[in-house]
Amino acid sequence: MTTCRFCSSPLTLTLVDLGTTPLANSNLRSRDEIVSEKSFPLHVMVCDECRLAQTTETIPADAIFHDDYAYFSSFSNSWVEHARCYCEEMTVRFGLGSGSLVMEVASNDGYLLQHFVKAGVPVLGIEPAGNCAVEAERRGVPSIVEFFGSELAGRLVSQGQQADLMAANNVLAHVPDISDFIKGFSIALKPEGVVTFEFPHLLNLINLVQFDTIYHEHYSYLSLIAVETIMRRHGMRVFDVQQLPTHGGSLRVFACRESASHAEMKGLGEIRALEKAARLDESAGYEGFTAKVEKVRDDFLTFLADARKAGQSVIGYGAAAKGNTFMNYCGLNETDIDYVADRNVHKQGRLLPGIHAPICDPARIAETRPDYVVILPWNLAHEIQQQLPQIREWGGRFVTAIPELKVF
Ligand SMILES: [Zn+2]
Repeated sequence: MTTCRFCSSPLTLTLVDLGTTPLANSNLRSRDEIVSEKSFPLHVMVCDECRLAQTTETIPADAIFHDDYAYFSSFSNSWVEHARCYCEEMTVRFGLGSGSLVMEVASNDGYLLQHFVKAGVPVLGIEPAGNCAVEAERRGVPSIVEFFGSELAGRLVSQGQQADLMAANNVLAHVPDISDFIKGFSIALKPEGVVTFEFPHLLNLINLVQFDTIYHEHYSYLSLIAVETIMRRHGMRVFDVQQLPTHGGSLRVFACRESASHAEMKGLGEIRALEKAARLDESAGYEGFTAKVEKVRDDFLTFLADARKAGQSVIGYGAAAKGNTFMNYCGLNETDIDYVADRNVHKQGRLLPGIHAPICDPARIAETRPDYVVILPWNLAHEIQQQLPQIREWGGRFVTAIPELKVF
């Protein structure tokens, strides 16, 4: 029987089972790689005890495909701006200065910590990807090339390094051993230190049927209720939480040691109440999700079948993990989707995992004049629509499938 990766209770409640699919970020370089393509079960279950929603499989590290280009956070202007605002807000709120220390876990290329450096606040980045850390050092961000956990935290403390503020954005979900990871913060923080975590909110995933944000390397799908339980286990408590628009609706959780003096803020009560109203504290909050996911799939397959009957062409736009989860769950192959256009030149010429349709330069859209362009990253639908005004010239239409089928 599968057990919870946090509290070891047996897992019996399924959120959704998306079948067996290849890893969502593993685009193929050529057709020769199809024969050796590996697939893994993608099944999310919810623990009855701690309410952690989690994948049942841990993917062997050597199977995870790392393409260097994909991981530089500074490629996204909006993400760098988000980080700048965070730094300003935290500096004021917690009175950070030249005598403070800010650490970031998964500090990437220094996209966030660089703003503290500019403000004269000492920083330390912790980033397992060496090429990212090199880039961070170039920005003046000292970086340790390691995974974070209780062992590294203990070493930092013994070297006299404890943090006033720690940031861990969009990393909590990616950690296989979430318990040891959180334990690390309880060690690395100063007695009054604060850690902030940002993660996509499970409540949005459920309400907006965002099942395409599920992928193998994303081990946990987090609610406030689960995060508070995990914190308590390690002598910490959540004292504030904010809602953010990033990644289809995220939470930013503020936590400190149990004994610290930070007062509980009203945001905490608000999110607790939202989750309670959605019954995330009982099985009922999770039980209807599979049916909603199946309806999204069935509606999309009906749309595809109708288009094919009418002799119309369908392409995708945006070759990212979301689209791969979605298309693989729908069981699509290269005869269903002619190609997927993507502006990232490093992806062009590769094949989508499992589906094996090619990734092409968006210039091809004007040449092939497709009847339908399926926007796979629904969170960027507005932006992508504006990038492709020309499809109206030949009567082309846009499609999004989540949270429900929309042709526009
Ligand atoms: Zn559990």
